[in-house]
Amino acid sequence: MDALVTNEMPADQVHRPDLRARYRAERDKRVRSDGNDQYLEPVGRFGHFTADPHTPPVDREPVVDDVEVVIIGGGFAGLVTGARLVQAGVTDIRIVESGGGLGGVWYWNRYPGAMCDTAAMVYLPLLEETGHIPSAKYVEGPEILAHARRIADKFGLNDGALCSTVVRELSWDEERGRWLVRTDRGDELRARFVTLGTGPLNRPKLPGIPGIETFAGQIFHTSRWDYDYTGGNPAGAPMTGLADKRVGIIGTGATAVQCVPRLARDAGSLRVFQRTPSSVDVRGNRPIDPAWFGELAPGWQREWLLNFATLQGGGFAERDLVMDGWTDIAIRIRDQLAAGTGELTPEVFRKAYEAADDDKMDEIRARVDAVVGDPGTAEALKPWYRQLCKRPCFHDEYLDAFNRPNVELVDTDGRGVERIDATGAWVGGQHYPLDCLILASGFEFGTPYERRSGFDPVGRDGVALSEAWSEGMVTLHGIHVHGFPNLFVIQTGQAANLISNVTHNLVEAGTTAAAVIAHARATGAVRVETTAAAQAAWVGLLLDPATSVIYDPDCTPGYYNNEGHPTGLRERRNQSRYPAGAAGYFRYIEEWRDSGTFEGLEFRSEPEGNSTDAA
Ligand code: NDP
Repeated sequence: MDALVTNEMPADQVHRPDLRARYRAERDKRVRSDGNDQYLEPVGRFGHFTADPHTPPVDREPVVDDVEVVIIGGGFAGLVTGARLVQAGVTDIRIVESGGGLGGVWYWNRYPGAMCDTAAMVYLPLLEETGHIPSAKYVEGPEILAHARRIADKFGLNDGALCSTVVRELSWDEERGRWLVRTDRGDELRARFVTLGTGPLNRPKLPGIPGIETFAGQIFHTSRWDYDYTGGNPAGAPMTGLADKRVGIIGTGATAVQCVPRLARDAGSLRVFQRTPSSVDVRGNRPIDPAWFGELAPGWQREWLLNFATLQGGGFAERDLVMDGWTDIAIRIRDQLAAGTGELTPEVFRKAYEAADDDKMDEIRARVDAVVGDPGTAEALKPWYRQLCKRPCFHDEYLDAFNRPNVELVDTDGRGVERIDATGAWVGGQHYPLDCLILASGFEFGTPYERRSGFDPVGRDGVALSEAWSEGMVTLHGIHVHGFPNLFVIQTGQAANLISNVTHNLVEAGTTAAAVIAHARATGAVRVETTAAAQAAWVGLLLDPATSVIYDPDCTPGYYNNEGHPTGLRERRNQSRYPAGAAGYFRYIEEWRDSGTFEGLEFRSEPEGNSTDAA
């Protein structure tokens, strides 16, 4: 199940009207006229919020060279693409990465308790290729970062990597048939091919709370954790620097759910400022037995990935290999359908989804009552929306943290923190004095590519990507863009859009890019580009009203649903996905790759002609 699966529902078919009314009321309370504009960009006087706390900048001479492939972004997108390129025999690669090291979100996000609540067996890419055995069903940030580095080591991707380096310009040189990459370090790189793996959730957003700039205590975003101030480390050592501090955290999303228990353990006092409670389901983590792991047959990870994607996409599989909160959603729907007439219309499916979700959310709310001692706090921690309206969370210590005497939930009843001054935060006319304010306020999503990446690629004929995508993304397969030869976008949109396992999308996109580049080299082609017709047909397929998804109108606002505001063409394009679901896309793209015909792409051996059109 993806988050955007439900359609608008006629009133007479509403299941459990009391619940629907409550969901709608809670939503209405939270929708703001300023939508996404409520957040502050980390620029200007807020620019320090994105500084790298992990690696001091090191002076170096600018690099000027010409390579086969420049990979922009050294997170999992870039790393898996690099690995697949090396496997395909392409080794003249240079990664450019803004962080002081490779690892992407896992380089940046080292907040205490950081972990991935997608099972390691499917989340960690290239497990068979690297031989790594995950320590547990869900692994912590340091293990994930180490795995990213393992991929880099195994495939020689550190060689020539330019870290602490921000791309400022990317432009296509038609005459030379090369991309020119300019960076903030004065580098000038020419590359025949470029891949973009700059991530969808890479740019912190700050809550636009009046007075935030006046806070005189310590303040930082969770993706730039200040261990110099807090003490401790990402491995979980006690944050001794907080022992006598009054700490506040703004936000209760997936990040906060993971770091609140550690803050509760170590802070003198902790105030959790809540606007919307997260749904916090059971995690049930456990170690992985290496003996069991050793008996998995070669090819197991592909099987697990497709199994997980199938269940997530609302499909049916004989077995549930991952067996967790994500797949449980699908299993419950299947059970609802099995109890029905056997009819499988969209209407029947939707009713099954709603009934399954109502049961699940009842359980999640009952869990709050069972764990949290204070009835008022428990009530405020209950989520009143469908589980997939917002990012579902899974944790076994978060709710219990509110039973500690040093922890206070400051519920803002959907309104958010009113004001911040030099000494603390205001909610409901009450001042909460703080020494340290932590912003767990999330990341930009759906803002224009050039704003999130810091550069605006300029393709053939001088057309900028911002222009080509002025009304939202247009691609073939989410990877190729007409007008941008030899460029590959490694991301989730206009493809599987499987948000519950982002790395699966990246592995498939990286594998595809590597296959296309290898084919171009093998056939002597120097340029490859999608045709306008193929791109238009793909986008048309994804936006077909019969199969495209629209938001549940009763969902509480958040980045999943454009903060509860209506969606235009831009949002629909950006969030569109293959109509046959995630597993359908993964199967489709594998076949497309393996066919060797690369339908929809045009390969050219010379700039002026000699078309070796493969379409
Ligand atoms: P989110 O965007 O999910 O959460 C931001 C939080 O800040 C929300 O609780 C939001 O409230 C709150 N907020 C924003 N403005 C205000 C305000 N003015 N006053 C009070 N509260 C405010 O960010 P996260 O960093 O938690 O997560 C981002 C994404 O990162 C996740 O959705 C997930 O995709 C990914 N992630 C993945 C993890 C994993 O296990 N793989 C772990 C952690 C993150 P409101 O809900 O009302 O908007």
